[in-house]
Amino acid sequence: MAQQIRELDPTTVERIAAGEVVERPASVVKELVENSLDAEAGRVSVGVESGGTESIRVSDDGLGMDEDALRRAIEQHTTSKIRTIDDLEGGLATLGFRGEALHAIGAVSRMTITSRPREGASSGAEITVEGGDVGAVRPAGCPVGTTVEVEDLFYNVPARRKYLAQDATEFAHVNSVVTAYALANPDVAVTLEHDGREIFATAGRGNLTETVLDVYGREVAEAMIEIDGGALPDGPLESVSGLVSHPETNRASREYLSTYVNGRFVTADAVRDAVLDAYEGQLASDRYPFAVLFVEVNPALVDVNVHPRKMDVRFADSEGVSEQITAAVEDALRREGGLRSRAPRG
Ligand code: ADP
Ligand code: MG
Repeated sequence: MAQQIRELDPTTVERIAAGEVVERPASVVKELVENSLDAEAGRVSVGVESGGTESIRVSDDGLGMDEDALRRAIEQHTTSKIRTIDDLEGGLATLGFRGEALHAIGAVSRMTITSRPREGASSGAEITVEGGDVGAVRPAGCPVGTTVEVEDLFYNVPARRKYLAQDATEFAHVNSVVTAYALANPDVAVTLEHDGREIFATAGRGNLTETVLDVYGREVAEAMIEIDGGALPDGPLESVSGLVSHPETNRASREYLSTYVNGRFVTADAVRDAVLDAYEGQLASDRYPFAVLFVEVNPALVDVNVHPRKMDVRFADSEGVSEQITAAVEDALRREGGLRSRAPRG
């Protein structure tokens, strides 16, 4: 018997597409924080309830949106950040570019955006989307900037909601996302609250070591060694900079490896494994250092358009990238006596 091929109804298509972008509360937080940073915020405040499963609130003092922009922002594939695919080749200045996050989040939650632009408006406006149903734009009193509130994530996608982990686990994912962006943006004051309790607050004074102190505390901040960018061997990378911990300060998880390519948080193996290689023989096999490592590469030599949820990139020459990173980290560790000289091979 011939199989019957049907066209999916728009609601089904939309929820499947939303699931590609939004997997769990931490993916919502990631998208909203990226939007705040792209809007040039000097302050980003994140608050979640019950690990983000009940509510997520991200507010900023960025560029804001007027009523028209609010309406446009929640449509599918609408963005102010790129115009054509060519803009992705030339070195994207923004974290976002797909124009799908707000639309996707609105399809699978109850979302309210309140915003007031920096220029040209004396008051704000707000719009609510519930399971993809868009309400009217209403006037709202609010300061300059944007607040997005997301409640009851996946209330209309029971299969997804059921697979959310316990609140503590969901919160751990939220925490690592906010931490990653706080560390990458020492000039932005980032705060994180869970169930009304402050988890951390960074000063936003532009100092990386101070930001590490705000996020991880004194023990870790004092164990950090600065990478000397001048010592970089030739290769595809233009620079490697940041902080790595003395091997004695380590944890049983990879989540303290914060690595960035051209300002974008990535978990690419070419980068992470290269950092770990520099610690070879210095750490037990299940122990990992702290790192806040920034690499800059010619945008033509890296593809950032891998997958909306995967924090990954692809390099034209990933071996060259790895070698340079390992060399830069080894150099820092050696300088601070964190690296025992290895027995000669052979
Ligand atoms: P993208 O970030 O890929 O452009 P989004 O769906 O995340 O797509 O956002 C759509 C648009 O809404 C953005 O391009 C931007 O113009 C606007 N926007 C979203 N969040 C904010 C914010 N916090 N402040 C100002 N504008 C915002
Ligand atoms: Mg975005």
